[in-house]
Amino acid sequence: MVKSKTKAVFFDRDGVLNKSLVIKGKPKAPTKFKDFKIYKNLDKLFIRLNKTHLIYVVTNQPDFYNKKKRYLVNKMHDKLKKKLKIDKILCCYDISDKSKFKKPNIGLVKKVLKNKKIKLNQSFVVGDRWRDIDLAHNLNCKSILIDRKYKEKINKKPDYVCTSTIQAINIILKNEQNTLISSQK
Ligand SMILES: [Mg+2]
Repeated sequence: MVKSKTKAVFFDRDGVLNKSLVIKGKPKAPTKFKDFKIYKNLDKLFIRLNKTHLIYVVTNQPDFYNKKKRYLVNKMHDKLKKKLKIDKILCCYDISDKSKFKKPNIGLVKKVLKNKKIKLNQSFVVGDRWRDIDLAHNLNCKSILIDRKYKEKINKKPDYVCTSTIQAINIILKNEQNTLISSQK
């Protein structure tokens, strides 16, 4: 029997897996399929990471609150899943911050982890904005901020700061290696 995974990585989408459009220093999620560009050289790292971690994408897409154009989000997510080894994409379309499903609230994540034995304090959130770091805090996960030099502040201090998704994944892989070594001692 395959041993089920006990760790997860929750990736933000825009600015982490695909490029955000940056307008006046602020990131903006792509709303057109042609603007949905996935960062290069992540595929092999995802395969490695998925050997030890469940991989989720957690994303807010309030621009698609109106259902008419959601086929575009589906198209984007099909492209993403084809390219990267992802277990599940959790997408919230709600506009109001009061929604328990909208990041940094943890409703979507809790729902998907219901029957899984994930150790959240050994899991990671990787993101480029305050909502991601706050999500990590609310879940009691470790956080990695990818600093894209936006003109906006973060709320809580992240556990790690780096400048690319490749670096972020390498931090997690190294962490995993260190845990392995210390458990063998
Ligand atoms: Mg983002």
